[in-house]
Amino acid sequence: MTKFFNLRRQDYNDIYADALKGGIYEELPRCPKCKLAARKRLSPLVIEWDYGSNIIGDFTWPGEEIIVTDMVRTCFVSRGFSGISFEPVEMVQKQGLKKPRKESKARNRVWLPYLGPPLWNLVVTSWCNMDARSSGRTLVSECDGCLRKRMIVHDPAAPLIVKPETWAGSDFFCIREMEKMVFVTGAVRQAIEQNKLANVEMKERGYIREPET
Ligand SMILES: [Zn+2]
Repeated sequence: MTKFFNLRRQDYNDIYADALKGGIYEELPRCPKCKLAARKRLSPLVIEWDYGSNIIGDFTWPGEEIIVTDMVRTCFVSRGFSGISFEPVEMVQKQGLKKPRKESKARNRVWLPYLGPPLWNLVVTSWCNMDARSSGRTLVSECDGCLRKRMIVHDPAAPLIVKPETWAGSDFFCIREMEKMVFVTGAVRQAIEQNKLANVEMKERGYIREPET
C-alpha cells in the first residue's frame, strides 16, 4: 500500500506574496444534452501579484494553480519525480501602476519588472481514479451525454483509496474525482521536508491499494 499526501497552500497571513490568476480560456464543445461547456486554460498561466508581501515563497497558489521557484524545479527534476511538467508563467500588472518610491507595508507587493530567477507553473500530467465506495463516497450520474458525475461524500474524513490499475506509479498525480487537487507520494513529501520548502503543507489523504494478485 502506497500512502499519498495532498499538497496545499500554507500561508494565509501575507508572509509570502499571493497572486491572482488570469490567462486565456478556450471553451470546449457544449454537451448536446445538458448544454454545459467546460473551459480549458491555455498556456501560459498569467498571474498578477497581489498586495500583502513582496517575498515570493517556494510555492505560490493562484486559484487552483501551483507556481514554484526555479530552485524547487531543480530539486524535483534532480530527484527524477514523475507526473509533472513545468510551464512558463507570465506576469502582468495593471496599467499605470508603478512601484512607489517609498516602501510601505500597505503597498507591499511584487512589482514588475520581475528580475528574479524564473518561476514555473507546476502542471500535473498523471491522472488516476478513486475507488469511490471504499473512500466513503458515492458517484451519481448527472448527465449521460458528457458522463458528468456528482460526488456525495458520506464520510469526509475517510481516506481516499485509489484504484491501483489506474495509477501510473507517478510521484505526482491528480484523482479525476477530486478535480484539480494535487497528490504526492512519500518521496515528494520527504524532498519537500528535507529542503524546508516554504508555503506548502502536506496532509496524509489516503493510499493506493496493492494490485490484486
Ligand atoms: Zn452533459
